[in-house]
Amino acid sequence: MTSSANVGSVPIGARNADRDLHVRAVEHEYPTPNGAVKALARLDLHIVAGEFLCIVGPSGCGKSTLLELLAGLRQPTTGTVTLGDRTIIGPSRRRGVVFQQSSSLYPWLTVRGNIELGMKLQRVPRAERRTRADEELQRVGLTEFADHRVYELSGGMQQRCQIARALAADPDVLLLDEPFGALDALTRESLQGELRQIWQSTARTIIFVTHSIEEAALLASRVVVMSPRPGSVVVDRPLGFSQSGRTNIDLRADADFVETCHDLRAAITSTEER
Ligand code: ADP
Repeated sequence: MTSSANVGSVPIGARNADRDLHVRAVEHEYPTPNGAVKALARLDLHIVAGEFLCIVGPSGCGKSTLLELLAGLRQPTTGTVTLGDRTIIGPSRRRGVVFQQSSSLYPWLTVRGNIELGMKLQRVPRAERRTRADEELQRVGLTEFADHRVYELSGGMQQRCQIARALAADPDVLLLDEPFGALDALTRESLQGELRQIWQSTARTIIFVTHSIEEAALLASRVVVMSPRPGSVVVDRPLGFSQSGRTNIDLRADADFVETCHDLRAAITSTEER
């Protein structure tokens, strides 16, 4: 089931090797009072610019660790993570991050204030900040709520606000860690559709961590399955369901889709049993 990165799954016009991500021979250990915990073991991954990559695997296998390495929030113990020809050594506006919990939003700021903050820190002129924030507010359907405080928003709206904040910085890569995990099923479904739309209209690289096999199959142009800790890639497979233009309801009734979900689930179960 293993395959190399599928350039063919990248939307036309998105191909740009300067924005490819490379994870090379990466290991990561967390120091603890009882000795080092090895979270990742010799992980190699080439993420082609413009892919929608979903990372799935059993709880504790190192998905969030890998995402944090790609974000530059952590450094690998060994190996390298690069964007284009540059080693990732810290957070950067080129890589926007969306977390499961909206606690990364500032409660004392309005929705617009949260979206504009990063640009303000980069000294983007006020008028440009406003225009870019307006565009992103509109993209995620929050225009009417621009002047609300984030605690006045529903969970789904807070996640939209996080996505808008990340996009406002005009990143090459959007990294999302279980962004819809805490949402009810209907809200989750509509946010999945919006994220797919964002991917198709902006041609950005999206890297998305999820526990849900079905969510991965609905969204990804490529999925990787990780082994239990210490995590490494055990399945790497291109997918085309999200580009088919078919609805989720339609896909769920499709034999290929059902079989793919079954195969991915079986791959995870077999790694857990090893
Ligand atoms: P996942 O996102 O797949 O659930 P994580 O990346 O959060 O997995 O964690 C991978 C492994 O590293 C887990 O076994 C977890 O217990 C361990 N781990 C994560 N963070 C720390 C930490 N700060 N200190 C020690 N161990 C950690």
